[in-house]
Amino acid sequence: MQEMVKTFKYVDYLWDDKKAASFGDNQVDLFLYRSNILGADLRITNYGGGNTSCRTIEKDPLTNEDVEVMWIKGSGGDIGTLNRSGIAGIYVDRLRDLKNVYGGLEDEDRMVGLFNHCIYDLNSKAPSIDTPLHGLLPFAHIDHLHPDALIAVAAAKDSEKVTKEIWGDTMGWVPWQRPGFDLGLQIEKCLEDNPGIRGIVLGSHGLFTWGDTSYECYINSLEVIEMASEFIDKKIKEKGSIFGGQKIESLPQAERHEKAAQIMPLLRGLCSSENRMIGHFSDTDVVMEYINSHDLERLAPMGTSCPDHFLRTKIQPLVLTLDKNEDLSDTGAVLKKLEPAFEAYRQEYADYYNTCKRDNSPAMRDANPVIIIYPGVGMFSFAKNKQTTRVANEFYINAINVMRGAEAITEYTSLPRQEAFDIEYWLLEEAKLQRMPKEQPLSRKVALITGAGGGIGKAIADKLAAEGANVVLTDINEESLVTANATYKRDVSTYTVCDVTNTDSIANAYKKACLEFGGVDIVVHSAGLAISKPLLETTDKDWAILQNILVKGNLI
Ligand SMILES: [Zn+2]
Repeated sequence: MQEMVKTFKYVDYLWDDKKAASFGDNQVDLFLYRSNILGADLRITNYGGGNTSCRTIEKDPLTNEDVEVMWIKGSGGDIGTLNRSGIAGIYVDRLRDLKNVYGGLEDEDRMVGLFNHCIYDLNSKAPSIDTPLHGLLPFAHIDHLHPDALIAVAAAKDSEKVTKEIWGDTMGWVPWQRPGFDLGLQIEKCLEDNPGIRGIVLGSHGLFTWGDTSYECYINSLEVIEMASEFIDKKIKEKGSIFGGQKIESLPQAERHEKAAQIMPLLRGLCSSENRMIGHFSDTDVVMEYINSHDLERLAPMGTSCPDHFLRTKIQPLVLTLDKNEDLSDTGAVLKKLEPAFEAYRQEYADYYNTCKRDNSPAMRDANPVIIIYPGVGMFSFAKNKQTTRVANEFYINAINVMRGAEAITEYTSLPRQEAFDIEYWLLEEAKLQRMPKEQPLSRKVALITGAGGGIGKAIADKLAAEGANVVLTDINEESLVTANATYKRDVSTYTVCDVTNTDSIANAYKKACLEFGGVDIVVHSAGLAISKPLLETTDKDWAILQNILVKGNLI
């Protein structure tokens, strides 16, 4: 057995005794507190990934008897912001009784409906598909997390052996099974077969850990993730290089951004063949190491492993074959090169759908790529709004971390295509999509507004943003832009200083809009000013300023 880790290098230890003490013995508050500090560190779990739970003894309102209730994160949401309204309270005994009516893998969708019969707290959020994974374990506090380091172990070839190598006999392991009642039964059996373990690695998926108290559960989760991260780091050092080493050198950052801004409107146009999309660009070191590597060609088509990842990113990215120094100024010529690549991608997606579809599968969704890789330049994502496209981009970075870790350990393995398809086109996932709120009239659109630092320009930007548009605020005055920009929520706006009388300055503003959102759909020229002086006192200079901004500014 390995020694316990006491200090943490790869995860943030955020437990505050004083804060925890303020919750007294309220186990639900302590579990929510733990969830929030776990979710605050993206190395511990990806956005929206995983769930947490605790147990309490409550009075049954019908019988007045003591009953065991499990409080668990409900469907949707993120543990980082989980609160009382985001959880479900479930009778543990009733959930366990479902074992008597479970009819095997074909019965999974019906079981989700039956979870509602186990609800104790009438204010519960809808129980998630992971409810039986927690419910069939006997622990007071449980974490189910998706740390990149653990998914790397879970997606590595010989994952079970690797699990033993890292944690000895203290950790269980179950093979890949999509979440549902069957996986719950497998987890229960794993614990029965290996009493005394501290957690379970779920093949190609993630981690289960637990504790008698919220704090013990927290420390257990942190230690397990720390040990996996340390192991991966050691393996990477031993190997010397990762992803087969560098094949292409990155362009300098300024040139990368120049190229990205040039190509993004073209990519956006192609990605929007069915629905208009909003873009996001990233070129961090983690991204560049992967997209410039020798192994990109082998790894990218394999697809991402964790369902959380490919539900957001599609199973595989489109890798462009353009040279990093390609002249992108002739858009016609560039489009001629890009179009066949997009055609091939859409065809491949349709083939995947047709090969894997089942009798009751929902209709094929948009076949365009979500993630597009341009070696030497960076990684683009396109989705229905800025938040979704940014998160898709971040999820592919999670996937890169997973591939990096798994390749260092042994070799990366991905899910079989049919398994991936069954999750992507799962009827319950489809139902989730159908429940999405209706889009606003200007969502999927990007508006560039001049003179948006205040006054009419800002009011117009407010109106456009309220209708769902992404707004690019421009003004001559940076200070007012910063203030104006701060009035919007994340993923709505960006700003850039722009002098509307200067062609270069306008070109820069356009570039900023392309890099941030993928292009511009609406331009509102509201920069203007008035010089109020009696006619005789108005100088030539005053007149020239007015002409420049009000007339010339409109023309260029
Ligand atoms: Zn999971």
